[in-house]
Amino acid sequence: MRLLLDSGATVDARIKGKRLKPVCGDRVLAEPIRDESDWLITSIGERRNALTRPNLRGKVEVLAANIDRVIVVASAKPEPDWFIVDRYICAAELMPADVAVVFNKTDLAFNDNTLNQLRVYASLDYPTVACSAATGENFEAFAELLDQRTAIVVGQSGVGKSSLLNRLCGDSALKTASVSDKTGEGRHTTVNSEMIRLPGGGAVIDSPGVRDYAPALASSGEAVAGFREIREAGTRCRFANCRHLREPDCAVKQGVETGDVDPRRYESYKRTVALTERLQQNLGPGT
Ligand code: GDP
Ligand code: ZN
Repeated sequence: MRLLLDSGATVDARIKGKRLKPVCGDRVLAEPIRDESDWLITSIGERRNALTRPNLRGKVEVLAANIDRVIVVASAKPEPDWFIVDRYICAAELMPADVAVVFNKTDLAFNDNTLNQLRVYASLDYPTVACSAATGENFEAFAELLDQRTAIVVGQSGVGKSSLLNRLCGDSALKTASVSDKTGEGRHTTVNSEMIRLPGGGAVIDSPGVRDYAPALASSGEAVAGFREIREAGTRCRFANCRHLREPDCAVKQGVETGDVDPRRYESYKRTVALTERLQQNLGPGT
């Protein structure tokens, strides 16, 4: 695992004990090991927030910590799966962290459906960018999402996350990757994400590729908080504990009918509720 010291130098580090599980973005306490170049991580600072997902055994896996902005990337190829985008946004809302939605590979395709989906996100006040890492089209707008703070770039494998970051940082991003490859034995314990310092002062984390993503919700009721327009409309439902599924006088369902709530986003909400219930049934009681 690589550590960035406050001096600006980077060192390899090992972890003290089996219980500590530092992730990318963590602030840790570490000390040099006598007669070695490695440092030893002895404790992890309190996390301001964390991006998580349920792992195969039903436990919560932390992907990265202390994030200001989650940049969700979709692309022309693989075709955009807006439901996955919504599940990442849901997780980010709950962290909480800022959200931006990026559509990459505009050089391959950019159709009305994509434009409409991006407009839905823009109407929810999420910054949206359509760009191409390959041709550089509208790339400045992507770069502007990475300001002084810490961002993480997420999305399905193959949408071009690494390509976007490589175009942004040129050699320095590539260098970061080769440095971590050099650590050989350390790779097994290393978290599969990389944090890249940006010349402008911020930092960005390149998250490992995934085929799918689900937020780790404590209960299906938490899904409401991850869909801001549903949370907002839900304040006007007849029942305070309305789940916005089959209840009478549900302001969310009325909003879908009047067009105030985008039907696909509402479908996405319902899927997230159902997915969370399935995950919880698989866990069973007491785990
Ligand atoms: P990641 O898995 O999200 O990190 O995706 P990569 O950055 O590895 O890119 C996956 C593939 O898409 C690679 O073959 C890239 O060359 C290609 N790619 C990335 N961005 C673009 C783009 O803007 N346009 C086109 N045509 N191809 C791209
Ligand atoms: Zn309702």
